[in-house]
Amino acid sequence: MSDTARIIASYGRRYTVRADSGRVYDATTRKKRVDYACGDFVHIEVQNEEQAVISDFLPRRSLLYRQDAWRTKLIAANVDRMFVVTAAVPTPNETLLQRALLAAEAGGIEALVVLNKSDLPESAAWRDKLAFYAALGYPVIEVSALENAAALPPLMAGRTNIFLGQSGMGKSTLTNALLGSDAARTGDISAALDSGRHTTTHAQMYDLGGDTFLIDSPGLQEFGLHHLAAADLLRYFPDLRHLVGQCRFHNCTHRQEPGCAVKQAADSGAVSPDRVAFLQRVTDELSVPRR
Ligand code: GDP
Ligand code: ZN
Repeated sequence: MSDTARIIASYGRRYTVRADSGRVYDATTRKKRVDYACGDFVHIEVQNEEQAVISDFLPRRSLLYRQDAWRTKLIAANVDRMFVVTAAVPTPNETLLQRALLAAEAGGIEALVVLNKSDLPESAAWRDKLAFYAALGYPVIEVSALENAAALPPLMAGRTNIFLGQSGMGKSTLTNALLGSDAARTGDISAALDSGRHTTTHAQMYDLGGDTFLIDSPGLQEFGLHHLAAADLLRYFPDLRHLVGQCRFHNCTHRQEPGCAVKQAADSGAVSPDRVAFLQRVTDELSVPRR
């Protein structure tokens, strides 16, 4: 029997899918394909009450991935909104935030920044830092997963959303706050899996009701962007986008080249030198040939 389904958890080579019928299956793929991601809509062949085989995916409206020099890692498919979860404690990694925002721009996904743990007094300095990103057009949403996360549900309604962030920022606590209880968190997943022991290592999608979905992904330490082309980078920076096509050389690395509009803008104070330094770093990274 064949059916369509959505991947609600991915464990590397194994997946959990929820069929249109509502049934949840433990799924493998044909020919050991691993190019599927949490959030994918797929065709499945049902084997028995618990197992299915994924035969193909349906067209994707977005695909989020990161890549290092070695391999591509699909994070999620068909995501509408990315919430980068940050907090003042432990020390937030601003570069990781910037990289996640670039990946969202490149993937056609709306990005928002969450300032979690707003109950902590240490939040003031991080709040000031985040004002820069708010000015770029990324909404900054202040919440406290422990006390009040009510600002989030209206921003997620009717969409497929993803939480991304370093570990320790409160993603799990926020997810639980949105789900209401730990029981809801593991309930539908464990039906098809022996224990749910994989839950924190791979992406997993929760049904929040009302056509609203939340994908919780493992904590990020780094965010490789090797899948992007250096020539496209500038347009993923809302603050530098207006300079696309303004440099004398089309393959400008925005460092020493004469007639570099980006350097000129940084020198004159029109754009942030920190952002240009970040652009240069990512450009350099992408210029290293891939293995
Ligand atoms: P994750 O690694 O991103 O999933 O982070 P966790 O959800 O495990 O949270 C890490 C720690 O931060 C835990 O000790 C939480 O209790 C704490 N935490 C999470 N959210 C908040 C918050 O809004 N305020 C405060 N003060 N602590 C929080
Ligand atoms: Zn340039």
